[in-house]
Amino acid sequence: MGRLKVLIWIYFFTGIGFKASAQVFDQKIADYISKVENPLSFLQKCENLGVKEINKSGLDSTCFWLKKMAEQAGYVVKIQNFLYGNDTLRNLEFTKKGTSDSCIIIGAHYDSKIGFGVNDNGTGDFALYQIAKLLKGITTKYTIRFVYFSGEEIDYLGSRYFVKYINKDSVKIKFMLNLDQLGGTIDEDNTGIKCERDEISSKKAESNELAVSMAKIFSLYTNLNPVITSAYSSDYLSFRDSGYLISGIYQYSSFPYYHSENDLLKYIEFNSLISTVKGALAFVMHYSQSEIPVGINQKVADFNSLNVYNTNKELIVTANADYNLIIYDQMGRLRYSKWGNENDKNIALDDFKNGVYFAYLHSNGKMVTNKFLVQH
Ligand SMILES: [Zn+2]
Repeated sequence: MGRLKVLIWIYFFTGIGFKASAQVFDQKIADYISKVENPLSFLQKCENLGVKEINKSGLDSTCFWLKKMAEQAGYVVKIQNFLYGNDTLRNLEFTKKGTSDSCIIIGAHYDSKIGFGVNDNGTGDFALYQIAKLLKGITTKYTIRFVYFSGEEIDYLGSRYFVKYINKDSVKIKFMLNLDQLGGTIDEDNTGIKCERDEISSKKAESNELAVSMAKIFSLYTNLNPVITSAYSSDYLSFRDSGYLISGIYQYSSFPYYHSENDLLKYIEFNSLISTVKGALAFVMHYSQSEIPVGINQKVADFNSLNVYNTNKELIVTANADYNLIIYDQMGRLRYSKWGNENDKNIALDDFKNGVYFAYLHSNGKMVTNKFLVQH
């Protein structure tokens, strides 16, 4: 995504435009979105696959890895090849059938402008993958078409190609949702989330409604503070320019390593990314009129009781049941694992070298994560 400083227009929730009936809190959705996984292994793999610029080998490796991941989640994946000079670029598409043929398109690009592109756009790819994986197990009214685009960083080549070949007669597209740069940023303010709308086309009023309803969903299901901003510089513009209704999600914090060789895992803040994916999933579940089968949500401990935080001398674990604590270092190497119960609260950090670590605390089918720094 090519954005530098974007003027944020903060939307005050006056309730204009959104349909209240569509956004009533649903405990089943709240439980279901807790299944969103930790992004560490996905983003680590994304980084390991290397530079994703056009004509670098990491681009195709990433393409085929994303294809394999979608297949493992139960999808049949189509490759759409297109040419850019002598290079063949590839979009990937797979579909979750709904009971209606009307569809929502969810898109995320996987090419990078410069470097590894873990934030731009491994984070959007992670969100798309999680939404696809978790929707696979439930029934939705609307069909959902997932597309990983290539060539976004060259004037949205992949999405422009995709839009050009949509058969407009046979497909009813409700809207296109764009996922681009969703990770939080270490040491930045990660408390918000941008819900984006089209502010210029004939669909702008509908797009505003969509963004406002998405903002409402984020405030119902996550601790992120939504703000409404203008759709800017990503694949949704290909859809907007062809007359489709669009919306998008974009991270609130700035990302200083954007479009550089430093677009790396170590600068990404996970908690806000996880919340963003949960909110995006809740939005898609509401909008697509999903039905969660009875019994799919396990009975779980009170999520609020599960916590891990760092005092710099020790980690404090709060859990009201047996737990498993796993700690990785910044390179993704396992450094610590412990099974404990609710009375085991204090984990000494004396044996940890200085550095950044990721703690994952699992209990009763729930997980919380925390990135922490050790400085002796
Ligand atoms: Zn991007």
